[in-house]
Amino acid sequence: MKRIGVLTSGGDAPGMNAAIRAVARKAMFEGLEVVGIYHGYQGLIDGNMEVLNLGSVGDIIQRGGTKLYSARCPEFRTKEGQQKAIEQLKLNKIDGLVIIGGDGSYRGSMTLTNSGFPCVGIPGTIDNDIPGTDYTLGFDTALNTVIDCIDKIRDTATSHDRTFIIEVMGRDSGDLALWAGLAGGAETIIIPEETYNMEEVIGRLKSGSTRGKKHSIIIVAEGVMSGSEFAAKIKEHADIETRVSVLGHIQRGGSPTGRDRVLASLFGAKAVEVLLAGHGGRAIGIQNHQVVDYDMNEAFEKGEIMDSKMYQLSKELSI
Ligand code: ADP
Repeated sequence: MKRIGVLTSGGDAPGMNAAIRAVARKAMFEGLEVVGIYHGYQGLIDGNMEVLNLGSVGDIIQRGGTKLYSARCPEFRTKEGQQKAIEQLKLNKIDGLVIIGGDGSYRGSMTLTNSGFPCVGIPGTIDNDIPGTDYTLGFDTALNTVIDCIDKIRDTATSHDRTFIIEVMGRDSGDLALWAGLAGGAETIIIPEETYNMEEVIGRLKSGSTRGKKHSIIIVAEGVMSGSEFAAKIKEHADIETRVSVLGHIQRGGSPTGRDRVLASLFGAKAVEVLLAGHGGRAIGIQNHQVVDYDMNEAFEKGEIMDSKMYQLSKELSI
């Protein structure tokens, strides 16, 4: 292996830059050449790439977003698109690829691995929804962003004696909502993995107000329904006025936390080691504090990865 490529794909996440840096620097440390591919698989198809040097990845460890830009690329889902990508890999003498992204990006990379170009995946998504790793890059930063928002909303909720519904990201995974809700002291957390009972939600709001609570915070993961839909449901069941706050793309941005930077550095270095060892179709992750690589197919197994004890605890602590 002489030359590797690195790209970021799918939804961006804080910490992707730190991972790009780690991949590039570790590879250079090992005597490899590194090519940065822009705009994910689209850049690979178009040959939009350049050789990186030590300085190209300087001053990015602390930045959110991704220096290589990210994209969703429908063309790469087709055989023709994949063939174009393979031709570019050959043309640019790239022997292996590090893909930083979510499970969609992982699936795309399997088509290249199966065609003889080993790919290794680094989990980059704020959703924390990739089986095989306890944490994904960006989750910790997004979590802290959401907590910060909850704290701020709580100030105004208290001042006006209001119930707030805060809609957070998470289409299929409630991790961000659950962790942020627990850390932010939310009264109710609505996530895709758990069913909710509207009578119980209303009961909690009423008992809180009976004991003189000045505010209530309800967190809704977008995958269940929108914040305003949930507000309408509450209104249907009880005459309770709510305010809705949709956090939106704020959750994707910002300087990565120390934890995400460290994770990115560990993941990036491990990905290079795995490629150097000649392995493709592997995913990098952290399991019980150990950085590991595992068969990427395990990352597609949609098992129950949410901690339901934590969900139960969030209810017990917000009585
Ligand atoms: P994420 O990586 O955040 O889950 P997406 O699901 O949008 O984001 O996937 C990112 C890109 O990966 C897609 O735009 C597409 O180019 C590629 N991709 C996803 N699934 C496949 C697939 N089954 N086959 C080939 N490419 C895929």
